[in-house]
Formats: sequence, structure tokens, C-alpha cells
Amino acid sequence: MSEELNPHLRLLLGPGPSPVHPRILKAMSTHVVGHLDPDFLSVMDDCQVMLRDLFNTENQVTFPVSGTGSAAMEASVCNIVEPGDKAIICVNGVFGGRMSDVASRYGADVVTVEAPWGQPIDPGDVKAALDANPDAVMVGLVHAETSTGVLQPMEEIGAMCREHGALLLLDCVTSLGGVPVELDKWGVEVAYSGTQKCLACPPGVAPVTFSERALGKVRERKSKVTSWYFDVSMVEKYWGNERVYHHTGPISMNYAIREALRIIFDEGLEARFARHALASKALQAGVEALGLSMFAQEGARTPTLNTVALKDGMDDGAVRKSLLNDFNIEIGGGLGAVAGKIWRVGMMGHGATQANVVYLLSALEVIFSKLGYITRTGDGVGAATQVYADAAS
Ligand SMILES: *Cc1c(COP(=O)(O)O)cnc(C)c1O
Repeated sequence: MSEELNPHLRLLLGPGPSPVHPRILKAMSTHVVGHLDPDFLSVMDDCQVMLRDLFNTENQVTFPVSGTGSAAMEASVCNIVEPGDKAIICVNGVFGGRMSDVASRYGADVVTVEAPWGQPIDPGDVKAALDANPDAVMVGLVHAETSTGVLQPMEEIGAMCREHGALLLLDCVTSLGGVPVELDKWGVEVAYSGTQKCLACPPGVAPVTFSERALGKVRERKSKVTSWYFDVSMVEKYWGNERVYHHTGPISMNYAIREALRIIFDEGLEARFARHALASKALQAGVEALGLSMFAQEGARTPTLNTVALKDGMDDGAVRKSLLNDFNIEIGGGLGAVAGKIWRVGMMGHGATQANVVYLLSALEVIFSKLGYITRTGDGVGAATQVYADAAS
């Protein structure tokens, strides 16, 4: 027989999963009821109401799909695109690339709008793509690109899409719960997120939301949604008023997201966003005091995922291995084109705290001095601490 389960107690400061709030772990250990039990139906109702508030949307069809963020990406895209539909997808990192792959697997004729990694998408490029492709049914965009640390400005793109009759579809996996997300104000028609980034929840369910205009496109489809599991017209019969069985809802994960949302509204959105911003600012001051610089373009950085550029000669593997083995801290390495060139530090959900910023910087200082990257310790921790001191005064 295998041994008792006993993974290390890690501090999760990578691109996700993020540290899980103890209240959520407790909620998950609650006894399981049936997926049509009246008590579970009210759990579902609570989740839908709070998700609308968090997304800042009136969309009736707003619920957690059963699966991780990628499942929600797939659920969003597969309902909107039919084989042969043209889809404009913005790609400035891994997740835009994934969305484009998903859309093409569902038969979309994908047109990409690109920006260099570390920079946001230029709305002018989206407009040019819409002008050149007036038949495009959707524009896909990533709000917080977890592979690069870029936060996409959202002011103009929604109106452009409406003007052209294309549906704006937004990936909010690394933004929801960490920075403001205002779907209705921005003109977003379909959006999705995950639980394991800024909701402080384990991975397993993932919020999605569809506007009336988006549902209109689904109703007008000439062909059935290619995915049975994610067909919103069927799933909605379980989550909406009809309450008919579609698949067995993951009960414990819905307990978890309900508790995660309660924690978010207990804290208050403004306080929560301010906490994320401050943690990110302190972390950034700390790494800069250690002689490093941020990778994502200034002014377009998401506080939830901080990308740090390695200097020439730094050993990515040695630093991250020591963080994990000697300090029980997980941070992320770079993906794809920036593998070995950047670190990705999540300041997400329950993890975005002064304690975690200071501990990470302290650990980095010990490792950097051992590897000869710095000659004295304290600068990073000092700079971060000063940011917290300034904020407190
Ligand atoms: C993590 C992430 C996803 C995928 O979520 P999984 O939970 O890993 O399936 C999609 N988009 C973005 C921006 C992400 O950060």
C-alpha cells in the first residue's frame, strides 16, 4: 500500500494555484449532498449572484463550469464559434495562443492580432483587424496574460467590437478577484475565469458568463455546439430555473467557490484590489533594489502576476530549486520564448500579503548572496518594507 498522503506545505507564489484560504478548505470538507438537493440548489444560487457582482455584470447566465480555467476557455469559445466562423484572437502570450488553438479546434477561421510578449495589445490593431474582417463573429482577448504579466487596458475595445457586430470574449483567469473586472462597462459579451488564481481556491470549477447578445448568437447557430459537456443551452438548464440534471455538479468544489466569493465580499472589492496592488508594488520595489528589473511594460503590469527579468549569468534552475527545497516557496519560470529569462511571481488572492513579499525577498537574498549575485543582504526586504511603511503612514 502507498504511504499516507503528505505533500510539503509550500508557499505558492507562482502563476497558480495560489495559497488556498483556510475557510475554503474547511468548506470543502463539508458533507456532500445530492446535486439536486434543495440545499445544493441554494449553494448554486449564491454562487451565481456573487459571481455577477464580482464580474460587474447583469448577465443572467453566469455560473462556474465544472473544470479548470482552460475548461471555461473552451466552454466560452465553443458556444460562440461554429465551423467556418471567423474569429479574431489577440495573442501576446501563451494564453492568447491557447485561445487561438481552442477556436481553431472548434472549426473557427482564426485571424490573430499580435503584440510582442510583455506588451499589451494595441486597440488600433484590433480595429484594423475588424475593418479587414467585417464577418468576424468574435474578438478574443486576455485581460491578465499570466505568461508575461501584462494587464490589458480595456477602455476602447468593447465599443469597437459592438460597432462591428463582433462579440468580445475576455479571459479573466488571472484578473478576477485581484483587479477590477467590469464586464458590462467594458462591453464584454463572454468572459471566463478560474478559481485557483485570485479566488484563493483550489482548481476545479471556473466561472463563465454570457450576455444576452452572446446567447443570441448561440440560439442562431446553424449547427449544434460541438462539445456536449460545455453546451451552454444544456448546462443552463441545470444552473438556471429548470434545474434538470445535465452532469453531476462537483459538489465540494462549488462549496469551495461559494466560500471564496463570500471571503471576497467580506473583505470588500476595493480593499482587496488595494491589497493586491500594494503587495505587487512592494515586491517590485524589493526586486528592483536587488538590481533586477520587471519584464512587463511599465504602466501595463498586472499586480496579480509579476514578471521579473533575470540578469545575464543568473541560474534560473538553481534559484527556483533552492526556493522550493530550502524555503518551500514556489515561483514560476518563464514559458516558451521567455523560458529561463523571467520569473513569474504570483501575488494572488490569499497570497498577496506583506508576510509573503518579505519572506520571498528574504529567501531570494540568501540565495543570491550564496550564488554571488549580491554582496550584501537587506536591500530588497528594506525597500519592500518601506513601501508598506509609506502606505501605513
Ligand atoms: C491559468 C490560466 C488559464 C488556464 O487555467 P487552468 O486552470 O490552468 O486550466 C487560462 N488563462 C489564463 C490567463 C491563465 O492564467
